Amino acid sequence: MNVEDLRAKIRDINDFPTEGILFKDITTLLKDGPAFRYVIEALAKRYTAAQIDIVVGIESRGFILAAPLAQQLAAGFVPVRKLGKLPAKTVHVEYELEYGRSALAIHEDAVQRGQRVLIVDDVLATGGTMAATIRLVEQLGGKVVGIAFLLELAFLKGREKLGSAPVDALLEY
Ligand code: AMP
Repeated sequence: MNVEDLRAKIRDINDFPTEGILFKDITTLLKDGPAFRYVIEALAKRYTAAQIDIVVGIESRGFILAAPLAQQLAAGFVPVRKLGKLPAKTVHVEYELEYGRSALAIHEDAVQRGQRVLIVDDVLATGGTMAATIRLVEQLGGKVVGIAFLLELAFLKGREKLGSAPVDALLEY
């Protein structure tokens, strides 16, 4: 298998969740054992030398990739969730969506000052969600040393919102 073989495993859904959106459905890739393993190993390979302490996953599809990646890198896993879901004391950040605003939160003791953090999500679209997550990690004093996606919708130019940390996507659309 090579990285281009993954393309055929991702399903396009037209007009989901709203009209005009072409949704990249990764469930068809995840249910394929060798393809799922390939994704985790391909991402892990890029960070084996990066001395990652913490892999942060973004609710909810980010969790699916971040947890096995953390295992592979012998790093900890930390969830970033929608505001109101995490049980202990959190810091949160509001950000713009296409329509309206949303808020993401992280436990305030989840990342220690100076820890090396890799942030993971499935899809880079406009970049708003990842930009907000970077702010959360940096607020706790974490050093964002990598940002990884399974796929990037490059025409939306989300990368431009993500600052200086290196951004990796296995597939570009
Ligand atoms: P954004 O903040 O615009 O970069 O959106 C990122 C979040 O929305 C990610 O967590 C994705 O899972 C989801 N998302 C946005 N656009 C799409 C799309 N076309 N297909 C699948 N997921 C998407």
